[in-house]
Amino acid sequence: MQIETLELESFRNYERLRIEPGPGLNVFSGRNAQGKSNLLESIYVLATSKSTRAGKDIELIRFEDPVGRITAHVTREKNSDVALEMIFSQTDKKVARVNGVRHTKLAEVIGQLNAVLFDSGDLEIVRGEPAIRRQFLDLEIAQTSPRYVHALGAYRKTLEQRNRLLRDLRDARGSLDGLREVLPSWSAQLAHHGARLIDRRRLFLERLGLLAAEVHETLSDGRDSLQVVYVPSFPLDGAVDEAGVREAFAEALAAVAHDEMNRGTTLRGPQRDDLTFLVNGSDARLYGSQGQQRTVALSLKLAERQLIEELVGEPPILLLDDVLSDLDDVRRHHLFDLTERAGSQTFLSCTNLRPFSKGVLEQARVYAVSGGK
Ligand code: ATP
Ligand code: MG
Repeated sequence: MQIETLELESFRNYERLRIEPGPGLNVFSGRNAQGKSNLLESIYVLATSKSTRAGKDIELIRFEDPVGRITAHVTREKNSDVALEMIFSQTDKKVARVNGVRHTKLAEVIGQLNAVLFDSGDLEIVRGEPAIRRQFLDLEIAQTSPRYVHALGAYRKTLEQRNRLLRDLRDARGSLDGLREVLPSWSAQLAHHGARLIDRRRLFLERLGLLAAEVHETLSDGRDSLQVVYVPSFPLDGAVDEAGVREAFAEALAAVAHDEMNRGTTLRGPQRDDLTFLVNGSDARLYGSQGQQRTVALSLKLAERQLIEELVGEPPILLLDDVLSDLDDVRRHHLFDLTERAGSQTFLSCTNLRPFSKGVLEQARVYAVSGGK
């Protein structure tokens, strides 16, 4: 899929902009705070209806203006071409139009345009707390599995109620015996919903891990190997399917029940999952250099790009915000090479053109970004 035209009106620091990006690499170069990230953000927002930076939609509207608008004409291989429009208002809910038809349900708009964004925040997937890695997993899987979203909601509810029960047991509120008797049924429910999450995460990571390892090997010029390891909160041992995971989960809960009642909280389950990224066998979070960490994060995103392509049947758009800074010439060269071969229309931001070879620039469409122009 490809964006033929992109128009912004009162979006962030853009008063008005119209561009016709090329089918391959589009480079947005400029000094700090000129609007490069804002432009990439507008495409991401059009694809997902959400921004990774803005807490509220009104932050997307240009200061003092009443209404902000993003419009794009998108050509697709598997579907007919489509005109997409998203309008944000200071006073009303956002409105999305697909070929001029207004949709209030955003679910009908999401997926018309597929985009994968890599920005500096993604480094946190490697460097940050486990909760960030779990969020990454949930977001990626949710994109392609409504069943997962459902299980996630059900699990959270059950977990909350089970934790409340454990707190009551700890504080010995109410009749203790009656409370203790209901714990096993809550454990069974938790294992039921949780097993679905764990099994899905495991399968997803197997596929993503393989793809990311391939990308990673290319980016690092065959020097570094990447292994993505799923670290659940209890051993999955021989569990081969959801039923097996459920059994293992139930056993793990039974084994810590005493502890849980003392501490007043659930000690096993997907809320305590983590991932480890092994670069040449050692944990990239603890031992990786900045460039290695960035390469891992970038490999995950490029693997995600490929997963989406397999699923949708055509390459999604790639948004690379400020990815070049920590990469050496060799890794940059492989990145350009990979994205070109992937066939994704790519939007890349950078502060200057020095990292680009003449060959890459000749193939690219280059924009100088200055003051929202
Ligand atoms: P850097 O190289 O530092 O990443 P950038 O070109 O990516 O810079 P952007 O993040 O796109 O910069 O932001 C550019 C400017 O947009 C900032 O100075 C910011 O103040 C301004 N800006 C952000 N939101 C709005 C808004 N709603 N209205 C007007 N201006 C805004
Ligand atoms: Mg930026």
